[in-house]
Amino acid sequence: MGKTPADGPTKRKFRSRLLTWYARHKRDLPWRRTRDPYHILVSEIMLQQTQVERVIPKYHEFLRRYPTLEALARASRAQVKKSWYPLGYNIRPVHLHLVAREAVARYGGTLPDDPETLQTFKGIGRYTAGAIASFAYGKPAPILDTNVKRVLGRVFYGMDGRRVKERDLWQLAGALVPRRRAYDFNQALMDFGATWCTPRKPLCLPCPMRTFCRAYPLA
Ligand code: SF4
Repeated sequence: MGKTPADGPTKRKFRSRLLTWYARHKRDLPWRRTRDPYHILVSEIMLQQTQVERVIPKYHEFLRRYPTLEALARASRAQVKKSWYPLGYNIRPVHLHLVAREAVARYGGTLPDDPETLQTFKGIGRYTAGAIASFAYGKPAPILDTNVKRVLGRVFYGMDGRRVKERDLWQLAGALVPRRRAYDFNQALMDFGATWCTPRKPLCLPCPMRTFCRAYPLA
């Protein structure tokens, strides 16, 4: 693992350049038009194993059928699994259903806003907890998925994020996320990894991070 150069000025530069990049390049996705924690949860669980294009129609259909956590909790497990089709990985609707029942039983049909409590739900891991806390409630909670790992690994360590200790990347993501703009920052990180700093064809030459990215130039 390389030594991280994440000093204050570099972190500030990364944050501001990422937010500027996002203002120009952000994707218009249906779950960005809501702050409803349940809707965000549904989108995040669907996106875990499925491409955005396939998730969009299913996201709308699923929420038409189960518009609230209460509605989902009332359904049977078999019904929920059927509604999930044709998305694969059938453990996902089972977890979602369990979360809905627990939210109704313990939290009055909503989801808590802090990542630690969210992680006590079966089916909500650290990433999903951070996504709900920041996207629904604007909390400065870090997120770390495959795309984010790749970006942080390249920029701050000059290597693929899979070769960096996960604990170090979580710490870095937590140090980077700004208190006031956690929502935009986390969305920006995901878009930047999904569309710009991609696994095979990163757009290094016109990249706003090129002056301090430790992996520059990759392509
Ligand atoms: S310079 Fe290349 S590797 Fe570095 S962040 Fe930009 S696109 Fe990714």
